[in-house]
Amino acid sequence: MTSAIDLRSDTVTLPSPEMRDAMYQAELGDDVFGEDPTVTALQELAAQRTGQEAALFVTSGTQGNLVAALTHTRRGDEVICGDQCHVLLYEVAGCSALGGLQLRPVPSHRGELDLAAIRATIRGENVHYPRTGLVTIENTHNRHSGAIVDVDSMRALVSLSHGAGVPVHVDGARIFNAAVARGVSVAALMAGADSITFCLSKGLGCPVGSVLCGSRDFIALARKYRKMLGAGMRQVGVLAAAGLYALNHMIDRLAEDHENARRLALGIAGIPGLFVDPEAIDTNIVIFGVQGGTPAAERFRADVANAGVKTGPPGADGRIRVVTHYGIDSGHTDRALAVFARCAPLAPVR
Ligand SMILES: *Cc1c(COP(=O)(O)O)cnc(C)c1O
Repeated sequence: MTSAIDLRSDTVTLPSPEMRDAMYQAELGDDVFGEDPTVTALQELAAQRTGQEAALFVTSGTQGNLVAALTHTRRGDEVICGDQCHVLLYEVAGCSALGGLQLRPVPSHRGELDLAAIRATIRGENVHYPRTGLVTIENTHNRHSGAIVDVDSMRALVSLSHGAGVPVHVDGARIFNAAVARGVSVAALMAGADSITFCLSKGLGCPVGSVLCGSRDFIALARKYRKMLGAGMRQVGVLAAAGLYALNHMIDRLAEDHENARRLALGIAGIPGLFVDPEAIDTNIVIFGVQGGTPAAERFRADVANAGVKTGPPGADGRIRVVTHYGIDSGHTDRALAVFARCAPLAPVR
């Protein structure tokens, strides 16, 4: 009996022995007093890697995006975002509930926001209108199968938004996947955007944490909002140490995850009854269709789980998500593909 192959998410990664050792050895202090040297070191390195002046260690990507929205906006503002984005779909309406903000989705194509729609959506001055307070964009894009928003596209978005006096926040939960896949720096991918959240707890293999990066003034105010949300943390260098280790040692290996995702996509495309375009897979997320729609996808997911392969639950569109990550190698992907072929709706009856 071999252990299950868990392709549900890159959040299931466990810290490596070296990362645990870095956590054990971390120098600590009270970070609410600004006295935890390990947190300070993580924030400095994160700022440097993203080309920003400053950074703030936060508990999660959701908290980073919320703190960013609170910091950029005022109550009653509108936040423009993509119609498939994480902030809109999966963050418990925090912007609305806690920030008094209205989310205004525009169409997105492989993660890129429709610029004409944004132009038409940014508000002018009128007594009836809320103020447009922020544009937020996701890179890589989860629901668009890990698609990368490239530098040129980012530059056009930032130029349009800044032209209207509106700041841009990047939900870069997996921005390092984009940087590694394209061979460019995260700083270049920012293309002048005002802030970014990235996750340490996904492909980078940390147990907890995200980092919000931006200008010095922005981060000073963000620190107050983080405190307001209850996340002023004390000897949290024990967790920041994992993040520091990840930024130094876990980034380049993301290329392996991309290779394995491509291997999965090519395999899935060759299985009758499953559908994916391998050319559309940029990074570590593969979202594929199952012939017969949602009921068939539910059955397929249960069957492959019984055979030891865990996949994400089908979305509203009946498609299934698999994600490659630290701990999954090419042997695992080949075993998963063999199971998929056996459980696919059109598998030959034996
Ligand atoms: C995971 C994710 C987040 C939120 O991260 P959590 O740490 O789970 O709160 C935000 N945006 C995207 C695109 C994500 O994939």
